[in-house]
Amino acid sequence: MQVLTNRSKVVSNKEMTLMERIYLPAILGGMMITLGHFFRKKHTFQYPEMKRPFAPLYRGMHVLKRDENGAERCTACGLCAVACPAEAITMTAAERKPGEEKLYREEKYASVYEINMLRCIFCGDCEEACPKESIFLTDRLVPSDSLRQRFVYGKDLLVEPMEENKRVDISKRQTKEVLEFKKNKELQHNK
Ligand code: SF4
Ligand code: SF4
Repeated sequence: MQVLTNRSKVVSNKEMTLMERIYLPAILGGMMITLGHFFRKKHTFQYPEMKRPFAPLYRGMHVLKRDENGAERCTACGLCAVACPAEAITMTAAERKPGEEKLYREEKYASVYEINMLRCIFCGDCEEACPKESIFLTDRLVPSDSLRQRFVYGKDLLVEPMEENKRVDISKRQTKEVLEFKKNKELQHNK
């Protein structure tokens, strides 16, 4: 039969020697390989005691930002939901009532805003699409859970707290290029 590779070996049926029968050289050889790995650089982390540092623009759990006065920035325009390739975002728009100016920045707001974290692929398209600087991905992780329903995150988990000292910092995401892009008011996105 024609051999296609040089990896095949001819099997020998010759009687094994005593050393081969006690497997000692093979065991020692195996132990030497194992010992050698003890002194190599480790590629694993002892999670959760040790945590791998995140990239500055890590795309983790979303936040819905408030403006400097504490009002929700989202106007329920739906652009993030349209941009989302995983169809993970749903929302219901509502009209702001007199007296609610401190809660919602514009006349329209999202009374319901939900992201299905099981569908989300953390691509960041929603953040890019948002013209109101409302939605951002952060370096926070979505915690694991055993129930699928709990992965649908509503406003209670997405909107940042009202207190100044508890706001979610997204300044790392505002790179020079992003800020330059957002200054260009000729773009429909920034109007
Ligand atoms: S990060 Fe991507 S997949 Fe997740 S909600 Fe935003 S647009 Fe959708
Ligand atoms: S694109 Fe921004 S303002 Fe529009 S619905 Fe999404 S988060 Fe709200």
